[in-house]
Amino acid sequence: MSTPVVPAHLRPADGRFGSGPAKVRPEALASLAGPGAQLMGTSHRQAPVRGLVGRVRRGLAELYSLPEGWEVVLANGGSTQFWDVATFCLVERRSAHAAFGEFSAKFARAARRAPHLEDPVLTEVAPGSAAVPTAVEGVDAYAWAHNETSTGACAPVRRVAGADPGALVLVDGTSAAGGMALQVDQTDAYYFAPQKSLGSDGGLWLAFLSPAAVERAERLAASRWVPESLDLSVAVTNSRADQTLNTPAVATLWLLADQLDWMAANGGLEFAVGRSRRSAEILYGWADAHPLVTPMVAPEFRSPVVGTLDLDPSVDAKQVAATLRASGIVDTEPYRKLGRNQLRIAMFPTIDPEDVRALTGCIDWVLEQLTA
Ligand SMILES: *Cc1c(COP(=O)(O)O)cnc(C)c1O
Repeated sequence: MSTPVVPAHLRPADGRFGSGPAKVRPEALASLAGPGAQLMGTSHRQAPVRGLVGRVRRGLAELYSLPEGWEVVLANGGSTQFWDVATFCLVERRSAHAAFGEFSAKFARAARRAPHLEDPVLTEVAPGSAAVPTAVEGVDAYAWAHNETSTGACAPVRRVAGADPGALVLVDGTSAAGGMALQVDQTDAYYFAPQKSLGSDGGLWLAFLSPAAVERAERLAASRWVPESLDLSVAVTNSRADQTLNTPAVATLWLLADQLDWMAANGGLEFAVGRSRRSAEILYGWADAHPLVTPMVAPEFRSPVVGTLDLDPSVDAKQVAATLRASGIVDTEPYRKLGRNQLRIAMFPTIDPEDVRALTGCIDWVLEQLTA
């Protein structure tokens, strides 16, 4: 049987629902090809690109109303690189992690493998749920994810009650940043990458750092060997000068600056968070009412930016995703290692809630075809 194709009148205006890399606004791409083109292929040590880095740093500080003393730091390598940075520069002796999916587990693994650290404390819960670490004596850094992109489960972001004085809070905000509210002063390092809710391309990590995190990074760099590209104190020094240690992806910076301008022009974080919340109401409302579709995550942990939908065993989710793909609706496949009969749908602020509504109509249509 050949793959059916969803009729054109049902399809969303934009068919990108991937959870990262994710939809980039066409207007941002046009702006890159327009005024942005003048910066492409020019020195990152000169005013135009440094000005762009400054725009990104200011735009993020404004979006999240950074508290006094917190700063925006960035460098090359994505959030995966930041785990290695943190293993060298933010964990002093021992960390504690809550793991509730692939990404939160990866940072715990990095800490476990670091020969200069003690074995981390791990709180693990099943995929679809979420947790935060609890206080343990001797732990100097607590880590978890705000939104676990592999499962679509969110955890609260707040300081750990009863933690040792000076213990740092390190939160992975990679898919949440730009799409979820946050009290930045509940964290010491809130780190993320620009290719998810922030609607840009990959390759960078960015972080909101507290004064305590900067102090820890400077102290550890002075007392243990740290590779230069992983040295957070080097990233802080460069970021303060609107630079990076080595060559950044200028296009990624441009798209990110454009996205931050778009959010600011429309009302800031409240606008961005509201777009995702609206999409989530549409998606989960539809799924809860559908006899063949069940959200994997319980309502209290459900992510407003990444929805995971289990399908009834009578339909093959792979076939649903393949039919959508053949119709120009891409990246609805679940996280590869989760191994569930599932669709995963990004609802980042860039994605139009009306496109999410159209997508539910397309899935209805595909399910009808496959169960006919
Ligand atoms: C995507 C993602 C990462 C990895 O980001 P990279 O930029 O690809 O390294 C880490 N954590 C979370 C929560 C993510 O969603």
